[in-house]
Amino acid sequence: MKTETYDILIAGASTTGAWFAREMAKRGHKVLVIEKQKEKDVSREYDIFHMEKYEMQKFGIELPTEGDKEYGFEFGSTGGKSPYGNYEKFGVGNPIVGMHKHEQIMKMNRKAEEAGAKIIYGAAFTDFIYDENGKIIGAKYKTARTEKEVYCKLVADCTGIPSAARRMLPDTSVVENKVLDPKNIFYVVLYYVKYKDANVDPMKLHTFFLNYKAWSAPSGDPNGAILGIGGNYGYEYAEEIFKDFRKNVPWPEYTVEKIEKGMTPYYRSLYSFVDDNFIAMGDTAQLTKPTCGEGCSSSLYQARIAVDVISRLLNQGKELTKENMWPINKKYMEVQGKDFDALRPILMGIVRCTYDEAEYMFKTDTLFSQKILGGGGNDLDITPVDVANILKNLAFGVATGKLRGEYIKAIVKSLTQFIKVAALYDKYPETPAGFPEWKKKADELWKEIGSMGDTCDKNILAKLGKI
Ligand SMILES: Cc1cc2nc3c(=O)[nH]c(=O)nc-3n(C[C@H](O)[C@H](O)[C@H](O)COP(=O)(O)OP(=O)(O)OC[C@H]3O[C@@H](n4cnc5c(N)ncnc54)[C@H](O)[C@@H]3O)c2cc1C
Repeated sequence: MKTETYDILIAGASTTGAWFAREMAKRGHKVLVIEKQKEKDVSREYDIFHMEKYEMQKFGIELPTEGDKEYGFEFGSTGGKSPYGNYEKFGVGNPIVGMHKHEQIMKMNRKAEEAGAKIIYGAAFTDFIYDENGKIIGAKYKTARTEKEVYCKLVADCTGIPSAARRMLPDTSVVENKVLDPKNIFYVVLYYVKYKDANVDPMKLHTFFLNYKAWSAPSGDPNGAILGIGGNYGYEYAEEIFKDFRKNVPWPEYTVEKIEKGMTPYYRSLYSFVDDNFIAMGDTAQLTKPTCGEGCSSSLYQARIAVDVISRLLNQGKELTKENMWPINKKYMEVQGKDFDALRPILMGIVRCTYDEAEYMFKTDTLFSQKILGGGGNDLDITPVDVANILKNLAFGVATGKLRGEYIKAIVKSLTQFIKVAALYDKYPETPAGFPEWKKKADELWKEIGSMGDTCDKNILAKLGKI
């Protein structure tokens, strides 16, 4: 076996790996990226994806323009519609770019190479290399022809849901080594449709239906759209719920031209991303938006903190121990982690309603409100006054027979859990020394909260043999 030495080895060259590689290489660090897929097959799982323009700019990602291979189209962020389609909450209209994923990722990878990173395609991470004290000092990878070893100061796992490196960590690691259970994965089915009536304007139909976790988004075809649906446990569950959506929501007739499927994490973030000479990033670290499961830009908030902390440590000649890298955990919880994870129980509570109850709440701007649905999960700031108003409107709904008492109990519980998560994440430990005690409390709290998978229809799951 041949050996090579780098500052950083990144496993996975998709959005997170490509961005991290570029930023670290730009700062003068020696970076190797290994990507399991061959160059022509990278990020082919689905075609169109979106990023908000202001987020691309924030993270220094070049905006594509018409004529570029990766460019698809532009539109504004949407809000959400009620289960029977009668009421709508409008999005803030942030400009969004739709891009072809493979082309965009290859562009990001080329930028990383221009900055000095080396990328090897068709090379899959297989295991860590440890020193005699059990410290990570490198990684092994496999290509079609050979197996190799690379020595490095840090292994960054950017391999998405498979978590190829993270899952090899010992049980003693402060980074969880379990891969996501199907219950905690969002299985997405995308129907690329063409409307039968040429007068249908798809741009006027774009919206999100939280109660089905379904949406309509542009496809780039002036007479077509992408109808998407996501569900926990498997694609079959999502497809079953899609039948409800089709039955309940008036929608123009269409033909399905193409179907794509893919997975995204739908669970709280890892408690710790770092251990000695290791960091988990992107989907591996479960950093997707709680409202919709998108992760291309939300992952970069943690990645940017990681760039600052790790680059500084390398420049100072310091070791990349978990103690030295701990500020990445702490800062992330402040910047995004607390907001995302505190929102999860609220979302789980609000989707426990019936379609009729949701229709009523859309009408009265309660929970399915302009503030919660219109913000798209970004910078959500729910104040105690908001909570008091929600409780008042819910009480009125029960008094008038529009809402079940059982549902109110679920909501009150979820609001209490929201407060508990926020309070616990505010006390995220400053150093690894305080972590075991914090983790014990977090484990108890998340055991009580559960996950979005718990809100799935048990009858459908039983019919599909999932439970
Ligand atoms: C259908 C669908 C639509 C979506 N649309 C959007 C959207 O519009 N906007 C948005 O922000 N998010 C969207 N998401 C979510 C988004 O795809 C992910 O959050 C994002 O791709 C995560 O990027 P990542 O780099 O962390 O992981 P991934 O994109 O999963 O990339 C992981 C990379 O690691 C490689 N890899 C795996 N194993 C190994 C190994 N052993 N060794 C080396 N390499 C390995 C893989 O080949 C892959 O290239 C969507 C998800 C789905 C399923």
